[in-house]
Amino acid sequence: MNRYSSIFIEVIAFVLIGLFLTASPVSAGQQPKLVLQITVDALRGDLPDRYNNVLGEGGFRYLMEKGVHYNNAHYQHANTETIVGHVSLATGTVPAAHGMVGNVWFDREQGRLVYNIEDPEYRLLTPGADVDKKTEIDPTQKAASVDGRSPNNILTSTLSDELAVHFAGQSKIFAVSVKDRGAVSLAGHAGKAFWFSKKGGEFVTSTYYYDQYPDWVNKWNARKPALAYADKSWQLLHSPSKYLFGNADDRDYETDFPGFGRTFPHAYGKADDKYFTTRLTLSPAGDELTLDFAKALLENEQLGQDEIPDYLAVSFSSTDYVGHIFGASSLESEDNIARLDRTLADLFAFIDKKVGLENTLIVLSADHGQPEVPGHLHERGIDKAHYFDTESLDKTPAITALKKQFGIGEELIEAYHHPYLYLNHDLIRAKGLDQAEVEKAIAAELLKFDGVAYAVSSSALGTDSLPDTLLTRSILRNFHSKRSGDIYLVFEPNVFINDFDGLIVASTHGSPWRYDTYVPIMFAGAGLKAAKVNRAVTPYDIAATLAAYLRVKPPSGTVGTPLLEVLGE
Ligand SMILES: [Zn+2]
Repeated sequence: MNRYSSIFIEVIAFVLIGLFLTASPVSAGQQPKLVLQITVDALRGDLPDRYNNVLGEGGFRYLMEKGVHYNNAHYQHANTETIVGHVSLATGTVPAAHGMVGNVWFDREQGRLVYNIEDPEYRLLTPGADVDKKTEIDPTQKAASVDGRSPNNILTSTLSDELAVHFAGQSKIFAVSVKDRGAVSLAGHAGKAFWFSKKGGEFVTSTYYYDQYPDWVNKWNARKPALAYADKSWQLLHSPSKYLFGNADDRDYETDFPGFGRTFPHAYGKADDKYFTTRLTLSPAGDELTLDFAKALLENEQLGQDEIPDYLAVSFSSTDYVGHIFGASSLESEDNIARLDRTLADLFAFIDKKVGLENTLIVLSADHGQPEVPGHLHERGIDKAHYFDTESLDKTPAITALKKQFGIGEELIEAYHHPYLYLNHDLIRAKGLDQAEVEKAIAAELLKFDGVAYAVSSSALGTDSLPDTLLTRSILRNFHSKRSGDIYLVFEPNVFINDFDGLIVASTHGSPWRYDTYVPIMFAGAGLKAAKVNRAVTPYDIAATLAAYLRVKPPSGTVGTPLLEVLGE
């Protein structure tokens, strides 16, 4: 063989090896270059399939048809709220371990309600971009007394933390969401989080993460992408006949949000309207802005460009807000899913171009499900559904009688932030009463209320006299001694509070019932083989699966089990 033919063979071999390497998905011994963890806020497990008719190619269908789709995944904790679910996804464990027992809890040391990720030590990096209490519609956001945010209240490690530790800080870790808690949760303690400020119409962060913004964030914000929606409206993606709810746009139980209305098209309004950015978050626009920011992040931070796995978490918030305002079974929810599907397809196509889907392990799930709106159930002849009137539980005759029995004239209930009632411990002690007995007596009275399914005291949770039911187990998994209240209140199925601090909404999640615990889990990319799995699994399994797949140790509190279909076993 002469010199030239030997070089020729080497070149051919080189090209063939190159082709083989780029065409082959992640295989044994290799790591994905990117882990993309998508959370769709309030995506109930049935919704993508139910609204299949309005989906296109490359979004949900890519995940459902080319990936591993678990369609029987349920949370096992009782309080199915946003921070609880997000942190459970991030840590692979229950609130009893990770400590995030609710969006809001009563801090006994401070004697006030606190917002889950508020932290006075780490102010917002953009002064004045904090929650505007005059226009904020999310009542939990208003509980924060400071603008600072950090993950310091999360008590166990996240998968993203484990990546940071395992790869000695070389793994790039980011999380993005419209909601601060949607990003801070998944970035963990070691990653970096960005979220949308409705006040500024910009993505912001706190001093926990940065001393100053990266250039690309300043540039993105200076472009003012939110303003592109001014004077425009949310329109249907398809013709009405394509939708399950095409003939049912205007229903009187939907929330008629100021200037937004109950029917298509929903106007965003003028850029200087006080509710302009809020309306963006109540529509697919919030997710589109999140997508645009995530793409800029991927590109500028060079995610997935080397052999060390990077991690990007994106939490899409619109599905939750649309559900609260219009309900899960509405034309708005259906079109929101259709548009979220386009947003996902856009994100996957972008990642395919920049990193390659074969080098990217994607997982999509949700932080909780959604109930049906009572009015919608009534239309179907299901009458046992209503809103719960919270008008001061403390002043009801039953509680008043109890207080008389105990010789208490003052407020016995220190705070009630559903699902927890916090009693006035000082008062109980001062009157020489037994805390456990008072709790038990109040729980027994609450049980008599119309619409209350169960009320259990925290002291009873610590005894073995409790019945071993799905409900009691889920409440135990939600119990943290420093943050949980004295009594956990569970409403009957299809009964919930719909007063958002004055704004009457169509539906509220947060129950331990199946519609609120039910979420999809979809893994795709990285050469995974398509599968539909009906076996009962939990969202806590996700962090455990990612850890096993990436061969890093599991987060410190993980109770999940690695999913074998993803591990290829
Ligand atoms: Zn949520």
